[in-house]
Amino acid sequence: MTVTRLDVAVVGAGFSGVYLLHKLRGLGFSVRVYEAGDGVGGTWFWNRYPGARVDMESQEYSYSFSEELEDSWTWSERYSAQPEILAYLNHVADTLKLRDGIQLDTRVATAHYNEVARRWTLTTDGGETIDARFCIMATGCLSVIKEPDFEGLESFKGPTYHTGRWPREGVDFTGQRVGVVGTGSSSIQSLPHIAAQATHVTVFQRTPNYSVPAHNGPLNQDSLAVWKANRAENRHKERISSGGFLSSNPNEKSALEVSEAERRAEFEARWAVGGFAMGAAFNDIASSEEANALIADFVAEKIRGLVNDPKTADLLTPKTYPFATKRLCVDTGYYQTFNRDNVTLIDAATTPITHITPTGLATTEREFAFDSIVFAIGFDAMTGALSRIDIRGRGGLTLTEAWSEGPKTYLGLAIAGFPNLFTVTGPGSPSVLSNMVVSIEQHVEWICDCMAHLRARQADLIEATQEAQDGWVAHVNEAASMTLYPKANSWYMGANIPGKPRVFMPYIGGVGAYREICDGIAARDYEGFVTAGPAGA
Ligand code: FAD
Ligand code: NAP
Repeated sequence: MTVTRLDVAVVGAGFSGVYLLHKLRGLGFSVRVYEAGDGVGGTWFWNRYPGARVDMESQEYSYSFSEELEDSWTWSERYSAQPEILAYLNHVADTLKLRDGIQLDTRVATAHYNEVARRWTLTTDGGETIDARFCIMATGCLSVIKEPDFEGLESFKGPTYHTGRWPREGVDFTGQRVGVVGTGSSSIQSLPHIAAQATHVTVFQRTPNYSVPAHNGPLNQDSLAVWKANRAENRHKERISSGGFLSSNPNEKSALEVSEAERRAEFEARWAVGGFAMGAAFNDIASSEEANALIADFVAEKIRGLVNDPKTADLLTPKTYPFATKRLCVDTGYYQTFNRDNVTLIDAATTPITHITPTGLATTEREFAFDSIVFAIGFDAMTGALSRIDIRGRGGLTLTEAWSEGPKTYLGLAIAGFPNLFTVTGPGSPSVLSNMVVSIEQHVEWICDCMAHLRARQADLIEATQEAQDGWVAHVNEAASMTLYPKANSWYMGANIPGKPRVFMPYIGGVGAYREICDGIAARDYEGFVTAGPAGA
């Protein structure tokens, strides 16, 4: 049996794995990336549904670490679409000559820590064994789809699709009756495109989402020129900002301290700008129920203005959780799509889906006939990809056991009992609450600095202490409890997967504050970690 011996094994070739490979090679580590898909790109490789695009301005959702990359790529739209982001990541792989370090079509099945050797042994679905000092899980927060498990699914005679595993060749819905299950971002982005083709679309909504207009269009060349002229400063500001991006333009005033006229003017101005600017209209939207209700009312009014049928408008209006306590959806013509004659909205909360039939789908009320069904039902987020790998740390402790009450990490980067294992944008870090490329870069750079530091000291082990981890978990929970976020049954809480522990998983303290914490810990000689080595010494 051949064993591949490495300094570092990286799992996943999305934004995280691609940058890790470049950075670790630059530091002289032997490294290889293992990717289950047959191409690089991660999220942007898998999510090829029509209308898939970024939810923040294109130039912000891109790497900042390389002048060469910054100079060699120009986005075409304000919110770039999936094919362009995928092309960008392939351009990065080519420009930085990374292809030979990425092993595609390879799923890592197991990762076991060897306490004597202080190394990780990984095995792949192809039967390969990898022996590495460090293992870095760049497996993604939203890379494992929630599988549809409706009774009778296999009896359906037509094709079914999941937005997160869209066929590469695309789907032509012309002449079809289509059922769409789910009304999260993936549905909100794809519905207008599906409705434009299909004979009829029936949308099954269990919980309405808050969505704000993108006002997408060609990237404005004047604002791009301003961005480029101030690029270094902009990138710095992103890194120390709360969400990792600048286009939201946060307002430091409370919604409750201003007059009704000023508040309305602020909401209207931000609705006109579009995107995440809405969520930053006032500084207490995420923390004050009263302030939040004001913006929720404003959005409800906008929905009523966009949707002709008052009953449909009412059904599309969220009522059970505060505004933006799930990741805000950014749409192009979503609400207006319900004005089309060929689109029907079904309240799947009142009349839940009971099963799939050979010819369609049944609710508690009636049966529907479909030629195809689209499941836009989301992901086993944040922990899904990790829990699908048999990860074992000290004493054979499985990660599943260690996380039976919900994920527990130190900084979202490391886990007590699992030495030399790092997670990129793991639970307990800002990750999905941020511009993820900024968070990914910060994690990759922190991890690589840490490994270079260990090498300089001839150390071969680093591990988070239980005490430091407990302290961080408590801090993450406390930070979340000071906001309205835990009031939503969101995937942030694990609430979308039956049986998953209800814990608010990301860290809400903000990208800039979190970076400072991580840098401080490194500066204090990796406070909260133990290091040792060389092995046997
Ligand atoms: P991923 O891109 O998820 O890559 C992880 C890779 O690991 C995958 O390719 C997967 O196949 C691979 N993998 C997992 N397990 C294994 C295994 N066991 N063996 C081998 N390979 C494995 N974030 C934003 O900030 N802004 C956005 O606008 C935005 N839009 C999004 C739209 C969609 C539809 C989705 C699903 C997510 C979006 N996100 C967005 C979040 C997005 O996931 C991140 O921005 C970013 O792309 C994550 O990069 P990553 O490399 O960490 O993970
Ligand atoms: P999601 O937000 O989890 O939405 C899933 C939808 O499916 C919800 O409406 C959910 O209803 C519904 N659903 C799930 N199981 C169901 C069932 N058994 N019966 C009926 N309905 C069911 O998933 P997503 O839309 O794929 O988005 C996930 C995340 O990916 C986003 O929050 C965002 O972070 C990212 N994303 C970003 C963009 C972007 O704009 N760039 C686009 C897509 C995705 P309930 O709410 O009632 O559970």
